Amino acid sequence: EADLSDIGQAQSLCAQHQPDLVFIETPSNPWLRTTDIALVAEATHAAGGRLVVDATAATPILTRALDFGADIVMHSATKGINGHSDVLAGVLATNAPADPHWQAIAIDRHDAGAVIGSFEAWLLIRSIRTLPLRVERMSQNAQAVAEFLQSHDAVAQVFYPGLPDFEGHSVAKRQMAGGFGSLLSFCVKGGAVEALRVAGRLNLFHRATSLGGVESLVEHRHTIEPHTGIPESLLRLSIGIEDVQDLCADLEQALTC
Ligand SMILES: *Cc1c(COP(=O)(O)O)cnc(C)c1O
Repeated sequence: EADLSDIGQAQSLCAQHQPDLVFIETPSNPWLRTTDIALVAEATHAAGGRLVVDATAATPILTRALDFGADIVMHSATKGINGHSDVLAGVLATNAPADPHWQAIAIDRHDAGAVIGSFEAWLLIRSIRTLPLRVERMSQNAQAVAEFLQSHDAVAQVFYPGLPDFEGHSVAKRQMAGGFGSLLSFCVKGGAVEALRVAGRLNLFHRATSLGGVESLVEHRHTIEPHTGIPESLLRLSIGIEDVQDLCADLEQALTC
């Protein structure tokens, strides 16, 4: 595992290890790091490998990873694609179906029987009809919440690719069209106690781990993954489609206590 949002590191690791497969997640969870898909694709292909992009947080509405040179794109359809927190599903897509690696995936799917149930498929069809609208609203809301948090005295740091001074913003602008997604993180001033108190005081945000649904969620990531270096003061938000003034007012009352 390496931070491939650092493109110099991505290039030297590819040259050094000649990987068969490079797997990136952009924007990443919970740091919201942006990895330049086109440059990593170039470095991967120069080393003879294939690039897989987990673009779950971006959704296919905001980032078309195959257009930037990815060989396979992955989405957890459990998240934004379904958007109603009532389906478990996933998507892999390629534009090179004759590739032997893709053939191996297709054969395994067929033989292992990893086929979605008809009810879940129907729920997804229903959901996808509103996907562009939901992503547009969630991204607008998330942008406004990120800006609100950035200007708040009780907040130490905000992680959101839509903020002009956030690392990776210029790359995100290039490979995300129409918004920067629903996911953001922020550190409250203080530590675990302060962060947990803010999470506990929020009324509109449900305390839950998923993301990309119509309802806003908050989680204390350190509690979920204590050994991965995530600060105790960090809260991750998944912003939904609610009235953004209600969301900011809820954060305001939770932060000023
Ligand atoms: C949730 C998630 C997954 C896993 O997807 P499931 O549908 O829960 O199996 C993979 N990647 C990212 C970025 C996710 O958010």
